[in-house]
Amino acid sequence: MRFNWLGNPSVEKDGVRVGFETRKALALLVFLSMREGLISREALSLIFWPDFERARAFANLRRTLSSLRSSLGEGFLDIGRDAIGLENKSQPEIDIREFQSLVGIVRSHRHAEGIECQSCLNSLASAVALYKADFLFGFNVKNAEDFEEWQNDQRENLRLSLAWALERLAKASLLSGVLETALDYAKRWTLMDVYNERARRTLMLGYALSGRPGAALQHYEEYEGLLWSSFGEKPCEEMREFRGAIGSGNYDFSSLERVDVGKRFLRDKGKGEDERARLLLVRQ
Ligand SMILES: [Zn+2]
Repeated sequence: MRFNWLGNPSVEKDGVRVGFETRKALALLVFLSMREGLISREALSLIFWPDFERARAFANLRRTLSSLRSSLGEGFLDIGRDAIGLENKSQPEIDIREFQSLVGIVRSHRHAEGIECQSCLNSLASAVALYKADFLFGFNVKNAEDFEEWQNDQRENLRLSLAWALERLAKASLLSGVLETALDYAKRWTLMDVYNERARRTLMLGYALSGRPGAALQHYEEYEGLLWSSFGEKPCEEMREFRGAIGSGNYDFSSLERVDVGKRFLRDKGKGEDERARLLLVRQ
């Protein structure tokens, strides 16, 4: 059994997509699959049928569980008298668990001066490849505000992890000179977090490093226009300075945090003067 909760939710059993009678049945499965242990009927009926009196909410829960069981087949749900959960032995694959586990490996691995090792970069690349779209993208259930709030919290946490991963991948790719890849990651980071100026600067630097300073400046202008039309604001000073540096061809990594670390790292590794000059990109 495989649960795909990143993007519009779907369940596959032996490679075949499973159908659900109602959205609430699927929402209940999502909720149960992401919680440890059993959850009381009381809590579930309050979360999913908050507007119903207790007896009717319990009856709805019973009906929905029965429908869920016929969709999934026997052996996947632990439906107790008081509490419900997934059967311990069912152990479905869940895309979110895989994503979190890959990011978790990297977060817990200590690196010299914050430079991720290759194995961690591979884990991050696999994690962002799993993240097809936001948690339960385009999916909602009516009249279940607590579920909606929980859904939004989960989505936000996952987005933060994705941004964290994309930032590291973009910067590592910039530092190692794999510029097209760096641009791909930086674009994705920028698209998911459109007002993040660090993401914008990383993308601009990627363009400039790959010999397209014009694209970097155009990107700045698009951002400036967006900020102005949305909030009547101008980009922050650091951003304007960065734009000026790119315009004058006198830019380096110093505006991007962690890049100084990269400079030291490269120096310590005794890289040749030419490569250092290329990476530091202090253009004359
Ligand atoms: Zn590592």
